[in-house]
Parts: sequence; structure tokens; C-alpha cells
Amino acid sequence: KPTIAVVGRPNVGKSTLFNRIIGERKAIVEDSPGVTRDRLYAPGDWLNYEFNVIDTGGIEIKDEPFQEQIKMQAEIAILEADVIIMITNGREGVTEDDLFVARILQKSKKPVVLAVNKIDNFEMRNDIYEFYQLGIGDPFPVSGSHGLGLGDVLDEAVEHFKNLETEEEENDSVRVSLIGRPNVGKSSLVNAILGEERVIVSDIAGTTRDAIDTDYFYNDEHYTLVDTAGMRKRGKVYEATEKYSVLRATRAIERSDVVLVVINGEEGIIEQDKRIAGLAHEAGRAVVIVVNKWDAVEKDEKTMKKFEDKVRQEFQFLDYAPITFVSALKKTRMTTLFPLISLVNESHKKRVQSSTLNEVLVDSVSMNPTPTDNGGRRLSIYYGTQVSTAPPTFVLFVNDVELMHFSYRRYLQNQLRKAFDFTGTPIHILSRKRN
Ligand code: GDP
Repeated sequence: KPTIAVVGRPNVGKSTLFNRIIGERKAIVEDSPGVTRDRLYAPGDWLNYEFNVIDTGGIEIKDEPFQEQIKMQAEIAILEADVIIMITNGREGVTEDDLFVARILQKSKKPVVLAVNKIDNFEMRNDIYEFYQLGIGDPFPVSGSHGLGLGDVLDEAVEHFKNLETEEEENDSVRVSLIGRPNVGKSSLVNAILGEERVIVSDIAGTTRDAIDTDYFYNDEHYTLVDTAGMRKRGKVYEATEKYSVLRATRAIERSDVVLVVINGEEGIIEQDKRIAGLAHEAGRAVVIVVNKWDAVEKDEKTMKKFEDKVRQEFQFLDYAPITFVSALKKTRMTTLFPLISLVNESHKKRVQSSTLNEVLVDSVSMNPTPTDNGGRRLSIYYGTQVSTAPPTFVLFVNDVELMHFSYRRYLQNQLRKAFDFTGTPIHILSRKRN
């Protein structure tokens, strides 16, 4: 999916327009502990196009001067987006800060759509012409508070999508991303996997995407490491901010099949690790937990087991994910990675036969009878079927969905996990009333 970023100096109405663009949708409901998602990144659509929208105004970098903040937000937009919507304030006219933002955007060669906000009625339309001096194209009048003019802006934005490459859809490789808070060693791991020389890729001429993916072959299977270019761009102040690293992780997860959740073995697990790992779980991706910097840990024969217990305790929602311990720096145990990636990918795409599935369900029910409600009515499961993969999703046809308790669903999930190997993938069980 292409990405649109909304930029502009403070108080021009970025968040209002962002909310208008994403419409009434709520941020995805969280059900993992420790996960609260900012509405910084959300799906939207217009005409037949689906895209994601980033509100760069939501990324504030503490202790940086005002202009530096605006500059970083513009840089984030340039780095992350395919099309940028710059918002200005028609009531205040062109300001120094607008010129400053426009100059940064101009240099990037990314397509920019210029929206002049707070043009609430027709008489005010003449106020837009002065914005031609920004040198980034035709100004479009909009009114965030009245919801006017946004259609024209989005028409223009999606027009630019047509020039984007669509190589992602054509390629059937397994897409792998590495996520984790700053400094856990993601770039080092990519380097260790690919070899130093491979990561120094030049931007492909004629593409507007900065997210450069790198191919990798293991056992003749084709893998694509997602967004390895993003890992080369180091040293920006905003990369260390929590919101930006969550944004980066969200984007990487969306573009991948298998997610490596990287943890710093030297420092252990903190809240931010849980938050980032929670995103992979919620998105239903296959997951491998990678404990890096294992070289730097003083250990005896019990250390690994102890650390694993700790990970299990902190990441209860990822109880299905295998764990491996590596050192990107010393390149030790790196060979454990791809067998696990391959395994969890298979689980993620696994399809089980209906006949076998129903045998397992019948056995499960006979070992542990279905629950009843207060009136003594018992849940009946008539049959089940797998409706999709990645992640495996099952629908059970039942007499009354209200009778399917959380704990019983959990029990059935565990039974399915015992019967079929679903290592590394979440599985979903839905119930439907049989008509
Ligand atoms: P990223 O922000 O997650 O991409 O992390 P980097 O790859 O930039 O690594 C952050 C720091 O950790 C760098 O100084 C690396 O040299 C160091 N580092 C990365 N992997 C290892 C490792 O396996 N062992 C040790 N001791 N240090 C590592």
C-alpha cells in the first residue's frame, strides 16, 4: 500500500485533516497487554485506492528547537511517504516556516500536493493564490473543519500513485522484517545476514520509494528482507524517539510475512520492547524472537534458559513464537535464523484438511466437554473449517456464539496447536451460528 504523509508547520490543522482523510475508522482495537497505539499512522482510501496516512505532527522531538522539529517532520515525510500533502493556513497566508518546509520538500523530488486550509467559504478562495510562491505546485483550497475540498486534494494525491512501482505484489518471496527499539542491533543483524558489502545499495534510479528491500536465498527459497535501506539511514535524532520507532515497526510489519522481534540480550526487556512486539502479534504475522548481543552476556549453562523464561513471562501474548539467541557482532549462532524463519512461515501459511480438523475438534470436545451457561444450555460445535491462512483462521459453526467462552476457545486453540504444528504463528478461531 502506498503511503501519504501530512506535513506542515504547527497549527495549520494537520491533525484535523488527517482525521478527515482516515474517516471514521478507529485505530485498530488493541487486545495485547501493554499496547497502546497512537493515531499517527492509519489506513485510508479514496476512489479505488487504499493507502496509509502518517500524521508527522504527531511525532514531536523533545528538546529540539522549533525549526528543527519542523525540519525533522518534513524529513520523516520524505523518508516514509510516496506522496506528501503539505498543509498551510489560508487565514495567515504564507509564513517563513511554510517557506522553510516547502524548500525541504522541493529538494526531495517527492510528489507534493499543497493544501491551503481554513478556506471555509467561497469568498475566501482568492486567498490561495499567494501560496504559488512556495514553488511546490497548485494550491488546493480546503476546509478541515467543514470537510470541504479534500476530495480534490486526494484526487491529486492518488494520481501520483499511478507512477509507483508495484513490484511487491508481483513477487512471491517470503518477506521478512526486523523490528525492535533503537540499538538492539537490527542493522547489525541485516549486515551479518547479508554481508557488509550487500547492504550498501544505491537508490534505484527512477523509484520514489526509499524502502529498499534486499533479496536473500536460503535453501533455494526466496526471501526478501524488507526495508534494509531504512536501516542504513542512521544518526537522525528522531530515529531514537519512541513514536518514530513504533511508526517504523508498524510499516515494516505491514510489508512483511515474517517478523523478527529483536531484543537486546545485554539490556533485557523493557516496556518499549513489549509494545513493539505487540504490534507484530496484533497484525497476525509469523514471529521469531531474536535475542541479540548474546556475546556480551556473561553466562553459564543456565543463562539461556533463564533468559528464555523471562521472555516468555514478558511476552505472554507471543507464547507461540520460537526464540533464538545470536550475536550479530561475533556472527555466532546466525545459522539458527533461517531455519526458524522458514518454519514459522510454513506454519503461517498452513492449511489443514477439514476432515482432520473435525476429528481434532471431536476429540477435543470429548476430552473436555463444552461449557454451559447459567440456564444449563450447552455449547454445541457442529463443525469447523479453515477459512484463511496467514494467519490460519478457523470458523466453528455452533448453536449459539454466546456460549463460546474465551477460556474454551483458548483450550481449542491449544488443541489445534498440539495436533498441527503452528509454531510461530497466531491462530484465530471465530464462531458463527449455524443457520
Ligand atoms: P539498531 O538501531 O537496532 O539497528 O542497532 P545497530 O545495529 O545500530 O546496533 C547498535 C549497537 O549495538 C552498535 O554499536 C552495534 O555495534 C552493537 N551491536 C549490534 N549487535 C551486537 C552484538 O551482537 N553484540 C554486541 N556486543 N554488540 C552489538
